[in-house]
Formats: sequence, structure tokens, C-alpha cells
Amino acid sequence: MQAEIITIGDELLMGLTVDTNSAWMGQFLTAHGFNVYQITSVSDNAIQIRDALDMATKRSDLVLVTGGLGPTSDDITKETLAGYFNMELEINTDILESIRKLLDARGLEMNENNRMQAKVPAGCLVLPNGRGTAPGMLFRKGKTIVISMPGVPYEMKDIMENQVGPYIKKNFNKDIIKYSIVMVYGTFEAKLAEILEPFEEQLPANVSLAYLPTQGIIKLRLTAKGKDETILDKLLKDQVRLLEESIPEFIYGYDGELLEEVTGKLLRQQNETCSVAESCTGGNISHMLTAVPGSSDYFRGGVVAYHNDIKTEELGVDPELIIRHGAVSREVAVAMAEGIRKKFNSDYAISTTGIAGPGGGSEEKPVGTVWIGISSASGSAAIKRSFGTERQNNIRRSSLAALDMLRRAILTAGEEA
Ligand code: AMP
Ligand code: MG
Repeated sequence: MQAEIITIGDELLMGLTVDTNSAWMGQFLTAHGFNVYQITSVSDNAIQIRDALDMATKRSDLVLVTGGLGPTSDDITKETLAGYFNMELEINTDILESIRKLLDARGLEMNENNRMQAKVPAGCLVLPNGRGTAPGMLFRKGKTIVISMPGVPYEMKDIMENQVGPYIKKNFNKDIIKYSIVMVYGTFEAKLAEILEPFEEQLPANVSLAYLPTQGIIKLRLTAKGKDETILDKLLKDQVRLLEESIPEFIYGYDGELLEEVTGKLLRQQNETCSVAESCTGGNISHMLTAVPGSSDYFRGGVVAYHNDIKTEELGVDPELIIRHGAVSREVAVAMAEGIRKKFNSDYAISTTGIAGPGGGSEEKPVGTVWIGISSASGSAAIKRSFGTERQNNIRRSSLAALDMLRRAILTAGEEA
């Protein structure tokens, strides 16, 4: 089913009002199984409105229109719609009554503009507005349904939720759409697409795969369309299982879960704790961990050991080690993790030490070089990562890498136990 949106108003085109209605309606339509084909914004001008309606009604099953229904002379949508659908404007007594009540409640007299608001094109289906005076209006042109609503966002939403939603559920025979989301860390989009080529080839025609990368994490969204919800659920379950078989090493969670949430959950399950020693991430890992509700169950605390003195004084890193290998080194990353684990008496500890940039790099250790350390009962280790030159990005990527290292260590320990 094809749907489209037309928003009307000079203010939208002049950039004085941001067209938030389209974004909201686009989400609503997509969630209700429509394929949103086009969003058009036009001025309060009869020719432009008619042109937009001509185009939209030719190709779409449902056209949603907002704006231009106010009581002032610049709003001409209602008159234009009446003309377009060959209808006369006539007073609707129900609307007149509700406007009278609203005015009475505010102690106001009814004037000609208010009476004009009670007029609707004779023959349209009136969709009551629970939050204002101008109702929604539904028209039919061939097999296309056109629904006009006020531009005021909360009034539009009221009509969409209470009138349009139930109407389309009853009158449109649409596919049901179901999603499954798989969370991926540890690879990049182009590589993933290469590995998943065989997976994509075997996908049933009514299932599609989308890659949604954001800041080091890739969401894989499987979308299934069909008529039977049980069949779709089974189909998605099977496809998620196949994905798990294709990329077991990269999947850390499902449905928008964060890496720090999953890592925290694992710690809670094992009844274990962690602590963090951060240099180049400056407290970001502690922040990510503590942003998860209930993290006090497993997070002991962190130290931002930015200056070398603090690495030594607070974490017990041997100054000789820093002189010999430099602060950004395997040895110091390991010593930081071991130091904080001991100091905070946690089961696991992770550490970061790197060059976040944009300055401070050398030939041997360019900007973006980060060592990530880990320490636990089964020993200590560190890995080197090379990120880019963008500071915020380096902080984010280093944090994710450290959290993932911790997650993998907990999983491995769980398997060995
Ligand atoms: P109207 O129905 O044209 O009288 O619009 C009433 C008010 O709703 C306008 O003054 C705008 O502030 C707001 N509005 C109209 N269209 C939109 C839109 N597409 N997105 C967000 N706000 C809008
Ligand atoms: Mg307007």
C-alpha cells in the first residue's frame, strides 16, 4: 500500500516553521504498514495544492494532508478541497455545536470566522478533532483516500491516533510488518556486507535486510512483510538464527541493546564486578556503564588517570615502565588494569591509554593509537587499536573496544567454568 503526505503552509516554505508533521506521519504510516512514497510541501496557494493533489491521488492509496485549515483568510485548504472534489461548503451542525461550547467555556461570542470553521464540504466524512475546532475531513477519489487535517501538531496527532488509525485498520487490507534487530560490533559495514552475501542471497522474497551503522555499532534490521503474524514471527526467528550462524563473533545483542548493557547483564549473571582505569577515554567508559540503571550491582568505580603521576600514584604503575615503554603502551595498559583491579577489589578491570588527537601523535604512535588493557583472575592482557584522527570518535571507539574486550572475557571465563 502506497501512501504520501502533503503539508500546506507558506511558513513551511519560508523556513519559519519546521515541518515536524511529515516526520511524525511518516513514522505512523510506516508502522501501519504503508510504503511512504513522497512528502510534498506546498504554499497556501490553490493551484499548488491542486497540483499536489493531482500527482498524489494518481499514484497513492492514501494521501494525508495537513495545514491551511485555520480561521484566517490565508488558510484556503478547505475551499480548495471543496472545489477539487466538486462539493459545496455547508454548515455542519455538530461542529457548530462543539465550537459554540468551546467559545462559551471561554466566555467568547461566536463570530463569522467561527461559523466559517463549522463549514465542511458536503459529502466528506468528518473526523472529529478532540483538541481543537477544525475537524479532519476524508474524501475519496477513485480508489484513493485523501484526509485533510489541521497543521497544529497536537491536533493532527489527535485525529491521526483516534480517527485515521482505526479507519485504516478497518479499510485497508495491508501487509503486517515485523522487525528483528541484531546488534553487531567488531567489524565495519563493507566487510559485513561481504560476509553476509550468501545470507542475503537466501533471504525469502518477503524478508529484507538493512544495515544501520552508528558510531562503531551496526544494527542489522530484518523486515518481514506478510499477512500472518505467526508465520512472520517464525520466519524472522529462523533468519536471525541463520545470521547468528553466519557472524557469531560479531553479534553482541538484540533489539537496540547497548554494549554496556549487555556487558553489565553478563556481570550481574555471574555475580561479578568490574572497575575501570581511563586515560584517553577520560571517564567515558565509566559514564557509559553508569548510564545503565542498576549498574551499581556490578560497577565498582573508575579512575581517570590522565597525567602520568596519577597513573603512578593512584594505580601503582611503575614510573620506570612509563619511561621505558611510554604511557601509550601494552605494558602501561596492563599495569593500569591490574592497578585498578587491586585498588577497587573487582573481579574484572579494563583500562585505556592512547592518543585521542588531533595533536600529540608521533611516527611510531600516530594519533588514534590506543592500548586497551584487561585484568581478571585468569590473567592480564592488552590489545592495540588504531583509530582515526577525530578526537570524539576515538574516545567513543576506544570505549566500545574496551567494553567488548570485557564482554568477551566474561563469556570466555563463563565457558571455561
Ligand atoms: P494551519 O492549519 O495552517 O493554520 O497551521 C496552524 C499552525 O500549525 C501553524 O501556525 C504552524 O505553527 C503549525 N504547523 C502547520 N503545519 C505544520 C507542519 N507541517 N509541521 C509542524 N507544524 C505545522
Ligand atoms: Mg497555515
